[in-house]
Amino acid sequence: MAERKPEGYLEGRPLHPESLMMSYGYKPALSQGAVKCPIFQTSTFVFKTAEEGKSFFELAYGLRRQRPDEEMGLIYSRLNNPDLEILEDRLTLWDDAEAAATFASGMAAISTTLLSFLRPGDVLLHSEPVYGGTDFLLKHVLPQFEIRVVGFAAGAPPEEAETRLRQLGLTDRLKMILIETPANPTNALVDIAAYAAFAQRLGGDQRVITAVDNTFLGPLWQQPLKHGADLVLYSATKYIGGHSDVIAGVCLGSNELMTQVKLMRTIMGTMAGPQTGWLLMRSLETLKLRMTAQMKTARHVAAFLSEHPAVERLHYLGCLKPGDSQYEVFQRQCSGPGGMISFEVKGGEREAFRVLNELKLFHLAVSLGGTESLAEHPATMTHADVDPEERIEMGITPAMIRLSIGVENPEDLIDDLKLALDLI
Ligand SMILES: *Cc1c(COP(=O)(O)O)cnc(C)c1O
Repeated sequence: MAERKPEGYLEGRPLHPESLMMSYGYKPALSQGAVKCPIFQTSTFVFKTAEEGKSFFELAYGLRRQRPDEEMGLIYSRLNNPDLEILEDRLTLWDDAEAAATFASGMAAISTTLLSFLRPGDVLLHSEPVYGGTDFLLKHVLPQFEIRVVGFAAGAPPEEAETRLRQLGLTDRLKMILIETPANPTNALVDIAAYAAFAQRLGGDQRVITAVDNTFLGPLWQQPLKHGADLVLYSATKYIGGHSDVIAGVCLGSNELMTQVKLMRTIMGTMAGPQTGWLLMRSLETLKLRMTAQMKTARHVAAFLSEHPAVERLHYLGCLKPGDSQYEVFQRQCSGPGGMISFEVKGGEREAFRVLNELKLFHLAVSLGGTESLAEHPATMTHADVDPEERIEMGITPAMIRLSIGVENPEDLIDDLKLALDLI
């Protein structure tokens, strides 16, 4: 377990993360006794003495090692701010990580993290499909920096990826593996432990870093660090934020790796502001409640969809069957199926649009993980920028609809879907 602050324990026993989300890392006495952490809307912080300012900067730029009794102080809100620091302390609890960094968006977290470790000539291996923005970063931006990017199908074993790397003569250049599991929007799972072991084996002396985008199931139902991953990434816009009112991202990992990520964040200026930190702390208080309710409702909705004659195929983790290799991965890696459902209607885009246009309680919008249920059409919306042929190979068909289940009453959501699906 990563080292915790003393208030993380009761009589030596570590407290559960949900019990600490209202208090961990925050000292009311430093803020006039306020129960809630205020928004520290300030760009800069006053040093007590010039000597103190000097030593804070030495630590911030890694000019010397931190002394055991020494605490890093506040300098400037691009480097650190109490709302982000306290939030980051709380975020480490769910994933049991040593350190966390909060960003202005999920894409800021992903791009800053990749650029912290990849250099021209390096190879990045990644699962497919991935979120549309990530797909664009990998296929159109990183190659401009002479970073080679090689994809593998989410369900494929590492041996296939290894063969492909060998064929391309790129095995020695592998620097990083990026996994998105479950994949957006198909819910396809990637075996984190298998790829983390592969990274170790192939890396040898030269470390290959495994990073996992845990947006769909984390931090409640999947904790990638426990399965050997080095870094965890989030679009905190989704479940962590949970109210569709904030854009943010997170990266978590060891102190060693996160020092590099945080330095890159400071220089690229991709950190989140204090208001975002405050909103996410508000959100963390109810994270477990929300994700539990959303999952419970998603199970009901998936059960309904699995029986409806207009539904051709259903992609929900709770509906995987024993014997399926994806089921085995699910059993090892996830503690719940979450609240994201994709399904294909009988027909194509026309039928899918018919359903989407008919929904009343579900909002027709991209994004996910919020308190309200959302429906969207991946092929023409979130994944519109993916190459059309590759899109079909990844299973993102014109008939696919993606649902994010909120906290509404399950019966109401099912009736809304039924009225729309009965039309086709
Ligand atoms: C939304 C999303 C992102 C991007 O996050 P933003 O906060 O929109 O920048 C990355 N990965 C996944 C899986 C997502 O769903």
